[in-house]
Amino acid sequence: MSTRERRAPAAAALLFFALMLAAAAGAAAGGAVLLLPEQVWTAGEPVHRGWAVLTDGARIAAVGPAAQVHAPAGAQVIELRGATLLPGLMDIHSHLFLHPYNETLWNDQVLKEPVPYRTLRAGVQARATLMAGFTTLRDLGTEGADYADVSLRQAIEDGLVEGPRLFIATRAIVATGSYGPAPRGLRPDVCCTPQGAQEASGVPEVIRAVREQAGRGADWIKVYADYRWGPGGTQQPTFSEEELRALVETAHSSGRPVAAHATTAEGMRRATLAGVDTIEHGFDGTPEVFRLMAEHGVAYLPTLTAEEAYGEYFEHYARGTRPPTPGMARAAQAFRYARAAHVIIGCGSDVGVFAHGTNYRELEWMVRLGMTAVEALTAATATDAKILKREADLGRAREKMLADLVAVGGDPTTDITAIEHVVLVMKDGVVYRRP
Ligand SMILES: [Zn+2]
Repeated sequence: MSTRERRAPAAAALLFFALMLAAAAGAAAGGAVLLLPEQVWTAGEPVHRGWAVLTDGARIAAVGPAAQVHAPAGAQVIELRGATLLPGLMDIHSHLFLHPYNETLWNDQVLKEPVPYRTLRAGVQARATLMAGFTTLRDLGTEGADYADVSLRQAIEDGLVEGPRLFIATRAIVATGSYGPAPRGLRPDVCCTPQGAQEASGVPEVIRAVREQAGRGADWIKVYADYRWGPGGTQQPTFSEEELRALVETAHSSGRPVAAHATTAEGMRRATLAGVDTIEHGFDGTPEVFRLMAEHGVAYLPTLTAEEAYGEYFEHYARGTRPPTPGMARAAQAFRYARAAHVIIGCGSDVGVFAHGTNYRELEWMVRLGMTAVEALTAATATDAKILKREADLGRAREKMLADLVAVGGDPTTDITAIEHVVLVMKDGVVYRRP
């Protein structure tokens, strides 16, 4: 290739980055903004018609009847006719470093896609998420992309990439031999294939893995308490109770909570007794184990949409025309058990299995399975903030809280599908999307 031919893409790349920086700089204004929607849902109260919200810098300065909210001179005024303003939505089980498995199978993403490619994709996917009104994610593992989420979180904080506020788990921790892609299906002398997470065996290795991930920047520690590594690919517990207790103690003493992937009742039981903070999936949870979670204050992230997506990709499930797959039925049953046992239920979808920016599907599933629209919205705002231990400044539209706000056309408190129609997105007082 000649020098001349090479220059064109380089110039295009420079222009692209210049535009990105300009966009970031434009977004970072952060002055006072007066938002005038049709109504405001603050999370926790009935909808208030005719209310306004004033933000100043990164925080909410005032919330109340429009006539009583006075904007300072020079404030930006944004009219949001016909829209409902609510706290920024949260999805606290995401994988920004994955993309849908009907595009590329998980194994192929982990084994064939270079980490730089996956990281660039993650940046684009973070932007799609933010524009869909999800201003906070807990990203539960890079699935083989090492510590790239630390850089993504940094780039978002620096304003280089537009994306949600991230709480990250870096590599996640799995029991040796239990996770993918290797060793199952490969000849035993194949070594050094990338792993979807960090392997550990025994108390000292588990403690080391927690400390390594914490040291590299993990906000949360993610552990796989079970996985399909039993005979014939059956789901079986992975770590012993002793290993899980050591993992949780180490994480907690470093100030980090623990999220446990668990689908079996025994995996859920061990994780709960070890003191984890959240359990993910829980598809084969029994009423007894959900009661145990409620007693121990362990929160549940149902990831209902992941099962729907698996059904669509691998079992010919079609929305509206086919009955739920066995996997979807199990997920629905678990959700009902969890509600009956009064477990704390947050919104966590496993997005990445399905398309980023369509996180709203999880709230729609929660409503389809019996929650009111307000209960689902509460799960995705105030409850998720509480699970993140950030209820003091996130998850509600209240004075002095961080100005993470979203406006949607219509009334999502009576029709949850309104959250598909985002008209405004603000994070930290910066407007990223507006009418
Ligand atoms: Zn996941």
